[in-house]
Amino acid sequence: MSEKQPDIIIIGGGVAGLSAAQYAARAGLNTHLFEEMAPGGLLLTIDNLENYPGFDKPLSGFELADNFTKQAEQFGAVFHYGGIKGIERNDEGYYRVTSEDGVYTVPAIILATGAKRRELGVPGEGEYQGRGVSYCATCDGPFFKGKRMLVVGGGDSACTEALYLSKLSDQIVVVHRKDRFRAQRSIASNVEHNDHIEVRFMHTVNAIKGNGKQVTGVSLHDIATNRDYEEEFDAVFVFIGADPRVDLIPDLELDEGGYIVTNELMHTSMPGIFAVGDVRNTPFRQVVTSASDGAVAAHAASEYIDELRGQAYV
Ligand code: NDP
Repeated sequence: MSEKQPDIIIIGGGVAGLSAAQYAARAGLNTHLFEEMAPGGLLLTIDNLENYPGFDKPLSGFELADNFTKQAEQFGAVFHYGGIKGIERNDEGYYRVTSEDGVYTVPAIILATGAKRRELGVPGEGEYQGRGVSYCATCDGPFFKGKRMLVVGGGDSACTEALYLSKLSDQIVVVHRKDRFRAQRSIASNVEHNDHIEVRFMHTVNAIKGNGKQVTGVSLHDIATNRDYEEEFDAVFVFIGADPRVDLIPDLELDEGGYIVTNELMHTSMPGIFAVGDVRNTPFRQVVTSASDGAVAAHAASEYIDELRGQAYV
């Protein structure tokens, strides 16, 4: 296997990784990005992106991903399609990255590995994704203005997103499998006292129903009474957590939710390792915030590399 020495490796080709690649390459860094699938990440699942700043008409997530990719390539970023097998740190503070196509030694790595959202795993969920089943209220809530919406989950995401949806409709129902929310007290209390939201604790979802085109209702289970019943809904928003992909570098400091802890410049607890987008601990996860993370990390990494090399050459 040949050993290569680029300036920086970016792992993950979602928005955060693509933005980091563009900024790093444009700053003159020899930039290599590794992506296991197609570039774009979760963007590829968004049909109509209405809130990306600077565009007065909705964008297709696929198109935007393609534009991000072309832009990064134009500035010289090199794309590799395949997984990373291992990362080791050497005594000089450099990282040895083994991929499917070779071994690379770099002073800095940007982790943009994202988080895998949890799914309910009930009948109808897969069939109606993008047709009433959603995992992003800011993205899809406006399509159901004034309609009847079900929110599933009991953490900060479910409560925060239910509050967002309550501004769009007065018919929001939140179901949670426990008898109290896991969310922070203040957020949970706002949900419980919101006139537009009905909370049903001790409830689970059996199945999501539809007419072949879109969601029409849900089969619910009331744990307290052991009763199953069906109810009409136009949309189901699932917020039952996500599993950040952090296993490539096991020694990084994580928060309680398992997300990588960073400072405002995206530095992690290990020198030369930066984390961006959905894998890091951030309270607001949006396409625009991921793009911003990437830009900040590329800039910070460039400064870090200059310092490391300056020290090395003294
Ligand atoms: P969490 O893991 O905190 O909560 C997930 C919720 O989903 C829990 O209530 C859990 O139930 C429930 N759940 C899990 N699996 C299932 C299932 N199979 N069926 C039904 N319910 C299920 O995830 P969040 O996305 O809410 O939050 C992730 C992180 O992001 C947290 O650290 C959170 O604090 C942070 N965050 C902070 C915000 C803020 O500060 N404004 C906003 C959004 C997120 P149970 O309680 O029974 O385990």
